[in-house]
Amino acid sequence: MLKFILALFIFLFSSGLFAQQKKIAITIDDLPFVRSGIFSSETLVQKTDSLLTALSRYHAPVTGFVNMTEVYNEGEFDSVQINLLRQWLGKGFDLGNHTFSHPDYNNVSFSTFAAEIEKNEQAMQPLLNEYNKTMPYFRHPFLHRGDSQAKADSLAQYLRSRKYTEAPVTIDNAEWIFAAAYDSVLKTNDQKLALLIGNEYISYMQKKLIFYEGQSVKLFGRNISHILLIHANSLNAANMDHLLSMFAGNGYAFVSLAEALTDKAYNSEDKYYRRGGISWLDRWAFTRGEGRDFFKGEPVCPAFVMKLAKVDSE
Ligand SMILES: [Zn+2]
Repeated sequence: MLKFILALFIFLFSSGLFAQQKKIAITIDDLPFVRSGIFSSETLVQKTDSLLTALSRYHAPVTGFVNMTEVYNEGEFDSVQINLLRQWLGKGFDLGNHTFSHPDYNNVSFSTFAAEIEKNEQAMQPLLNEYNKTMPYFRHPFLHRGDSQAKADSLAQYLRSRKYTEAPVTIDNAEWIFAAAYDSVLKTNDQKLALLIGNEYISYMQKKLIFYEGQSVKLFGRNISHILLIHANSLNAANMDHLLSMFAGNGYAFVSLAEALTDKAYNSEDKYYRRGGISWLDRWAFTRGEGRDFFKGEPVCPAFVMKLAKVDSE
C-alpha cells in the first residue's frame, strides 16, 4: 500500500499537478470600443459580442477600463455606446475607471487629472447602479503615474482617498499598433492581410509573454502573477480565442485582477518618475537601480505592421 501511495505521489508530482499554476489577469482598456466611429452600430455590437463570448468561454474574469467621453455628453447618454457597456456588465464582467477623456498625466496638472477621474465616475454611476456593481480599480491612461515624485504622490494619495486600487500592468505591449494596422486593412477588405496581422499578433504576444516571464524571474526569482493590458478593438474581437488559447497553452490560468494583486510582488516600490508608460516590472527594475542590460531583448512589432499602422516607433 505504501508503495502504491508513493508511486501515485510521484506520478502526480511529475504530471505537473503539484506544479505552481501560472496566473494572468486580463485587463481591457479604452471601452466602449476603439475607433468606434468607423463602424456601424450593428458591427460594434457584434464585435463586442465576439470579444466577450471568447472571454466567457475561457472563464477569464476581465476588468474593462472605460472612458465615458463618447458615451456621455452633458446629461445625455449615447444609446449605442452605453449599450456596448451593458453587454460587458450583462455578461458579468467588471468595469474600471480610466478617466473621462483619456488625458495624458504628463501634460496636465494634478487638479485637471483628478477632475477627469471624478467626471468619469459620476458619468458611470447610473450604469453601475443598474447592475449593482462597484468600481474599485483605476487604470492610468498611457500608464503614466506622474513624471515627478510630487505629481506621482499626489495622484496615488488621491486615488487612495477615493478608495481606488491602481491597476498595474506587467505584460505591456504594442498591441495597439497591430490594432491600428488591422483596422486600416479592414477598410480595404483584404481578408488575407487581416488574417496575417492576426497571426503575427499572437506570435508577438507569445514572445512578449516569454520576455516578461524572464524579467519576472530576474527580479523576483520566480514567475509572478501577471497582468496583461490590451484594448477593446477589432483586432481582439477577431483574435481573442486565439490569444487566450496561446496563454492557456503556455500553462496560464485566467484570474481576476484582485487575485493577481494578492501576489506580494505588487507591494514592490515604484520610484520611476519619468515620462515613459512602461511595465510595472520595468518600474520596479528602475527602482532597484538595474542597468541597461536588464531591459535588453524586448520583442518588437514587425516593420510591415508599423507601416500599415502609420507608426514610426513603438
Ligand atoms: Zn487607455
